[in-house]
Amino acid sequence: SRSGWALNRKELHIHQSIGKGEFGDVKIGDYRDTKVAVKCIKHDATAQAFIAEASVMTQLRHKNLVQLIGVIVEEKGSLYIVSEFMAKGCLVDYLRSRGRTVLGGDSLLKFSLDVCEAMEYLEANNFVHRDLAARNVLVSDDNVAKVSDFGLTKEASSNQDTAKLPIKWTSPEALREKKFSTKSDVWSYGVLLWEIYSFGRVPYPRIPLKDVVPRVEKGYRMEAPDGCPEVVYEVMKQCWTLDPVVRPSFRVLREKLRNILDKEL
Ligand code: ADP
Repeated sequence: SRSGWALNRKELHIHQSIGKGEFGDVKIGDYRDTKVAVKCIKHDATAQAFIAEASVMTQLRHKNLVQLIGVIVEEKGSLYIVSEFMAKGCLVDYLRSRGRTVLGGDSLLKFSLDVCEAMEYLEANNFVHRDLAARNVLVSDDNVAKVSDFGLTKEASSNQDTAKLPIKWTSPEALREKKFSTKSDVWSYGVLLWEIYSFGRVPYPRIPLKDVVPRVEKGYRMEAPDGCPEVVYEVMKQCWTLDPVVRPSFRVLREKLRNILDKEL
């Protein structure tokens, strides 16, 4: 339709708060008998940037992307971003709270593959995420991991200086020359794999933030998390290839992970 992403305010019922985001509260809601998450953004320049992105985002559809249902622009210029409700919250908290006693190797590999498939889809659609990390992956009621916040951060972060970038997740070329691409997402994906297999630890433990980039550029890489299969660690290290041209694509990564899953089960 002409503006399929603009929702009717009367059909949205907003309930209790479930989280706090960078740009405003996240609340539970109902939209036409469907449970939804509602991000409430106060009127400012950011809201304008979100509206511009929304029409693109509603067109991206994949089982491993948190589906954006639409947006509502209020008279005062406040903005509601309505998306699929993800009952089990963000992946990093999920991993930390369950830990290795609950989550087996098959669950970890399944989450890794879920995220990779979403990223393969974004890659095929020439869409760069820029902020891929376990905190931006959400878990559904039936334990499917889905990538969220795609598009949302892009406009906002282009106005920001590089000081605001998530240093530990961002590739060297993106940090140095602002060269964001699907291949810089691949670097971040490697860090996300490390987060998954370490059950939500903060990357580069015990290394001061200011030392991370210089050390990575000299060839330092994180060790394999405890109990991480060698084949999975090999995938991480490939994601952390310094030259983005040599770094594998998400398509290739998905095939590798699929092979690992098929052999292990
Ligand atoms: P921001 O990216 O602006 O910092 P988030 O998208 O991370 O905000 O949202 C903050 C928190 O709100 C998340 O950690 C999560 O717990 C909750 N949340 C966000 N989106 C959803 C959703 N679609 N379903 C359920 N909970 C959500």
